[in-house]
Amino acid sequence: MTDSAGRAARGTRPESREASELRTIRSQQPQLASAVDLHLEILGVHRRVQGRVTLPHLEITRESMQRHQATATPLLRFEDIPLDLSDLRLMVRQTADVLRRYGALEEGDYRKIQSLGRDMRLIDVTGQWFRSGLAQQVAGVGIPASNSFAELDGADVIDQVLTVSMRPFLSRCAEVLQQRSELSLWTHSHCALCGGQPDLSVITPSAERHLICGRCELRWKWESLACPFCRNSERSKITSFATSDGKYRVYACDVCRRYLKAYDGRRASRPVMPIVDAVATLPLDAAAIQRGYSS
Ligand SMILES: [Zn+2]
Ligand SMILES: [Zn+2]
Repeated sequence: MTDSAGRAARGTRPESREASELRTIRSQQPQLASAVDLHLEILGVHRRVQGRVTLPHLEITRESMQRHQATATPLLRFEDIPLDLSDLRLMVRQTADVLRRYGALEEGDYRKIQSLGRDMRLIDVTGQWFRSGLAQQVAGVGIPASNSFAELDGADVIDQVLTVSMRPFLSRCAEVLQQRSELSLWTHSHCALCGGQPDLSVITPSAERHLICGRCELRWKWESLACPFCRNSERSKITSFATSDGKYRVYACDVCRRYLKAYDGRRASRPVMPIVDAVATLPLDAAAIQRGYSS
């Protein structure tokens, strides 16, 4: 495979804003070069596939949103995702290739993923993976849930690869809900669309905090301080610290010991970009982990 710089120079599409922001990070923080290159490659694969994904038809009305809100059930069903099997296979194989090349996937796991990419069970496994996000949430509110995905051999690695591989499809679905005013009816800390957990947030210029789903990148307003993982909202049990440039913050919970990062849009010159901000905040992850928190 050629490197993404070569591809961008020859290709008809201009380089994305994300890619140029990533290159800026590489020039300013050379210690992040390898993480930047890995994400540039993922971004390249992602863009090729995403351009082919059609927007799904989702029935979104005030009534349907209120119903989902009342039962904490996300809107999107697996069968609503405009999933093309050959594009999914391509995403899985290429994601595994990139992760292995950058040392983020061990040889045995790589082979496991490659065979999953060829396997007839890929759609079934992906369906289990998709529903596992919801199962975690339902279990969190005390309803017993069967989560067959967690019992699969290599579930952690499959989760890592499917999270990346499904993003082109899920982010197209999120585009549909993101524009709808009904989204404001959702008050849960898991994703209204896919049931995923937030893995980043953004502070808006009016000082609201919006959570960003780690699977589909949907953004929705949530409490500005409370921990989205255990709902602890006691100010003295939330540790918050910022980077020296003030661009990013960490909200760490002293009850469940998990943390969530935030892009501070009050001081920003560009909108939040989850892929870019994930790389830019790797040093912040290290600082949070060193203080005993986990993501
Ligand atoms: Zn989501
Ligand atoms: Zn917590």
